[in-house]
Amino acid sequence: VRAVVLNGPHDVAVERIDDPTLTGDDGIIVAVDRTAICGSDLHYYEGHMGHTAGIRLGHEFLGEVVEAGPEVRSLRRGDRVFVSGVVGCGRCGPCAHGDPVRCDVGWQAFGTTPALPGGQAELVAVPAADAYARTVPEGLTTEQAVLLTDVLPTAHIGVTRADVRPGSTVAVVGLGPVGTLAVELALLFGAARVLAIDVVPERLSNAARLGAEPIDATAGDVVAQVRDRTAGKGAPCVVEAVGSDATLRDALLMCAVEGTVSVIGVNLNMQFPLPLAVLFSRNITVRTATASVPTTWPALIPLLQAGRLRPDDVFTHRLPLSAAAEAYATFAGRVDGCMKVLLDASA
Ligand SMILES: [Zn+2]
Ligand SMILES: [Zn+2]
Repeated sequence: VRAVVLNGPHDVAVERIDDPTLTGDDGIIVAVDRTAICGSDLHYYEGHMGHTAGIRLGHEFLGEVVEAGPEVRSLRRGDRVFVSGVVGCGRCGPCAHGDPVRCDVGWQAFGTTPALPGGQAELVAVPAADAYARTVPEGLTTEQAVLLTDVLPTAHIGVTRADVRPGSTVAVVGLGPVGTLAVELALLFGAARVLAIDVVPERLSNAARLGAEPIDATAGDVVAQVRDRTAGKGAPCVVEAVGSDATLRDALLMCAVEGTVSVIGVNLNMQFPLPLAVLFSRNITVRTATASVPTTWPALIPLLQAGRLRPDDVFTHRLPLSAAAEAYATFAGRVDGCMKVLLDASA
């Protein structure tokens, strides 16, 4: 079968791999239907993650169960499933509650290590299936279910951990898929104002259409722009959805006194210069998190089913798996208005 393999920086290829086998009696094999490329895949694609040649990419996928181990109780052959992009051991107490981040053994993401090959492939092995795979709920589109594997849960924790409440003023830094969904969720959670910050014109106009106030980062210092719009105070709730040092610094500096900065953009810099004088004098809380994906599904699935959450504009490009190299280049270059790419693994 075919899989997307990272051979080096900016070098992905669709290659033939051996059919995956069950990871254990609690595992399933999924014949992938649709799989998305994520901003976090780009960290690998851009070569920021060290020696990753040979990694089979992808942690956002949906498909049909073609084989189930003897211990799997909740799923069977033929079920259409979506899978948490991060998984735990499947046997400990936290895993019994679908909470991979608290797993006693530790969590892993698909497509980031040789130990857990990714879902940008025709077939993928999923461990701990009862804990981390679910049948696609009634009333959800395929694309909505793919978004439940990572980006919607990440946007959800970003907003909840920013302490967004009815009437809040929220700043969202970065309007990629996760930031855009954070804008939508913040408004759904009762934010009175959402200041939506990016450099890409179509992303800003998209956020404005959702009901946010766009702030164009190319038009000058975003911290000053946020302060201008908040009577000099800054935003009490800030969601950082980029992960660069510069945007993280902006997010910390635009936060109001007693406010909260919730960081969901991936930043692995161990030497980041924290502006402690500001955080200290303004009593700012900083939170960062990896989404414990399944724990967000009880909130997100009913919102999708009820039509209250409509993440329908996130996918801008739909391509066959065979065009993965082109898909990565388009996404990484943000060309052609690209926000997020969905790959059809059957083509
Ligand atoms: Zn992702
Ligand atoms: Zn566990």
